Amino acid sequence: MRDSIADAGWRFDNSYARLPEPLHAESQPVAVRSPAVVVVNDRLADDLGLDPAILWRAGAGVFAGNEIPPGAKPIAQAYAGHQFGHFTNLGDGRAILLGEQIGPNGRRHDIQLKGAGRTRYSRGGDGRAALGPMLREYIVSEGMHALGIPTTRSLAVATTGELVLRDAPLAGAVLTRVAASHIRVGTFEFAAAVEHDRLLPALLGHAIARHDPSAAEAADPAVAFFEGVVDRQAALVARWMLVGFVHGVMNTDNMAVSGETIDYGPCAFLDAYDPTTVFSSIDQQGRYAFANQPAIAHWNLARLAESLLPVSRGGHEESLAAARSVLATFPERFDRHYLAGARAKLGLCTEEDGDRDLFATLLRWMHETRADFTATFAGLAAVAESPAACGHTAASPGSREWHSAWLARLGRQPGSPVEAAARMRRVNPVVIPRNQRVEEALSAAEEGDFTSLHRLLAVLRDPFMETNDNERYRGGPPAGCGAYRTFCGT
Ligand code: AMP
Ligand code: MG
Repeated sequence: MRDSIADAGWRFDNSYARLPEPLHAESQPVAVRSPAVVVVNDRLADDLGLDPAILWRAGAGVFAGNEIPPGAKPIAQAYAGHQFGHFTNLGDGRAILLGEQIGPNGRRHDIQLKGAGRTRYSRGGDGRAALGPMLREYIVSEGMHALGIPTTRSLAVATTGELVLRDAPLAGAVLTRVAASHIRVGTFEFAAAVEHDRLLPALLGHAIARHDPSAAEAADPAVAFFEGVVDRQAALVARWMLVGFVHGVMNTDNMAVSGETIDYGPCAFLDAYDPTTVFSSIDQQGRYAFANQPAIAHWNLARLAESLLPVSRGGHEESLAAARSVLATFPERFDRHYLAGARAKLGLCTEEDGDRDLFATLLRWMHETRADFTATFAGLAAVAESPAACGHTAASPGSREWHSAWLARLGRQPGSPVEAAARMRRVNPVVIPRNQRVEEALSAAEEGDFTSLHRLLAVLRDPFMETNDNERYRGGPPAGCGAYRTFCGT
């Protein structure tokens, strides 16, 4: 029996395409020579109401941009953004939004092809993407999802049978990205800069309907929406900080108002804990270093506040004051999310004033000893279970004094240390998308061997449990490895 991709379960609406024109432009993917499916995300397909078997067998054309699924209305979205602090006009230069797939639960999911050819926003670029960076985004975004961190998802990667010219010719590929929406802080900056009286109300109404329906009832919907974005970003960046994630290019065009992690370019996870870590080769000043991420999110949100001012209900002074007071809550919101997460990592289920210091002291020790971020926290559960057995060996996390203080703190809360350990095992992952494991999977894939890719993806789906399968994925790089470098995902 021959499957037809048209029967895979597509159920598109195109509400973004109905917004006023300069917010987007009709844009067809450019067909490629020889589409082939590399990977399809079965579980995500199920969640979207799509038949994974049909996607595997007959999805190459759609996933490479050669065929348009029924109901889709392809567009490229316009946006602007502050890149490394400087305002620029951008837009989807190599991405096409097919439309919004309405899932079985009634939720709306953007389906976007990344690397699908040139659009009117491509400037000098070729509109294309290479296989390595698209698989990298697939691996890391799905790894983030399994860690419980809000993120865009990856439905599929297809190769194009064409080469893209970077430093060297590379295999071309297209990633199918799934998102609550692709509305960025930079989308609001675009609307505000181009034609605020016409574009901003339309964009705001759309974003509120998708992400903050209750804001529509507020006295000032723009301020209520802004508050929602501020809280989602505070929660998101706190989650990044608690797993050692460095986004790498937190420009305002790479920050989604949905609160999902978006645009996996030069991102990477910390191995040895060092708050000044920068992986991206283009981030020479360390603007987007690990420890700067909360402050950068705050700065980006100020750009959103400015963009929203023209649609705020009050007079200028009043709106400015309202936006300022919401913006000013970012540090305390971040802190609340971060501290709650820090307590959970330490197995704490009550609150004491000293908890913040306890966590900070451990981080200081980790920095001094260049301890592995993930392994240190993953190791704490075993110590809580049997402190005596672990002793204070070089491998045991924390200094002797820290250990005693932490164990004493565990003793001052209800429940046994064994229960605390069980809780810790639910929040401290044993596996993350380790840089060297990701690179290993990508190099093999570039040679046409996808076994390590699939093995890595399987291991990352279940990051909190030690299993035989994930043993070799748990450790960090051997000491003395050179600093890891990432390159912007083109
Ligand atoms: P990024 O750094 O990936 O967030 O991309 C910044 C901007 O550059 C966005 O407007 C992208 O659409 C655009 N861009 C990145 N790579 C390409 C490419 N190969 N061709 C055209 N536009 C691109
Ligand atoms: Mg981007």
